[in-house]
Amino acid sequence: MTPAATRPRVLVVEDEQEIAGLIRHALERGGIATVEVATSGDQALKLAGEQPPDVIILDLNLPVLGGLEVCRLLKARAATAQVPIIMLTAMASESDRVTGLDAGADDYITKPFSLRELAARVRAALRRGKSAEAPAMQVYRGRHLVADFDAVSITVDGAPVRLTRREFELLKYLVENRNRVLSRDRLLERVWGYDQVIETRSVDVHVGRLRAKLGPAGPQIETVVGLGYRFLA
Ligand code: CA
Repeated sequence: MTPAATRPRVLVVEDEQEIAGLIRHALERGGIATVEVATSGDQALKLAGEQPPDVIILDLNLPVLGGLEVCRLLKARAATAQVPIIMLTAMASESDRVTGLDAGADDYITKPFSLRELAARVRAALRRGKSAEAPAMQVYRGRHLVADFDAVSITVDGAPVRLTRREFELLKYLVENRNRVLSRDRLLERVWGYDQVIETRSVDVHVGRLRAKLGPAGPQIETVVGLGYRFLA
């Protein structure tokens, strides 16, 4: 167990005291993090601004200032723009989850959730936060896939793979954001750009081709039903 003083800090933004208490208990008991609780969006913005935490768990359904707005404000401010946000949502509908991801949330969990799952997501977010501090990774080395984005060299089990420019950009963006769910709209925006008139569906076509070319590494690109794609690393 990590000594308390050096543990990462997690800010839980949740107006329901009981849920906030359960989350605090799960993360502190496991020695994963020290937890601070904000019961309103205003309080969250104040606390996070004063001393940015390592991860923010943000309830979507907050009184007065809603979770989506809080998320947008946190991501718009320099002090907190890089802090991973895990959105808690009671709503299981796809559009709510997509809206959360589009507002800048890095991950989401639908209520009711298991504390074990929540703890796992927090640990993953902390790992991502750490790697984001390191200089941008230019070479990805997986079990099958080695991608050197600087040298524009992609190999699978040692054999070079020829990708189109778009497939290369798609793979690069997926790998740079590994273990994060990326919506089709976000992929369109970042890989194709707004000036391109293409349909969301063609993202699926490109992902399909990319997967096929990557052979045994193809399954690392996971389809997240109703949401988009995630590169598992
Ligand atoms: Ca709530």
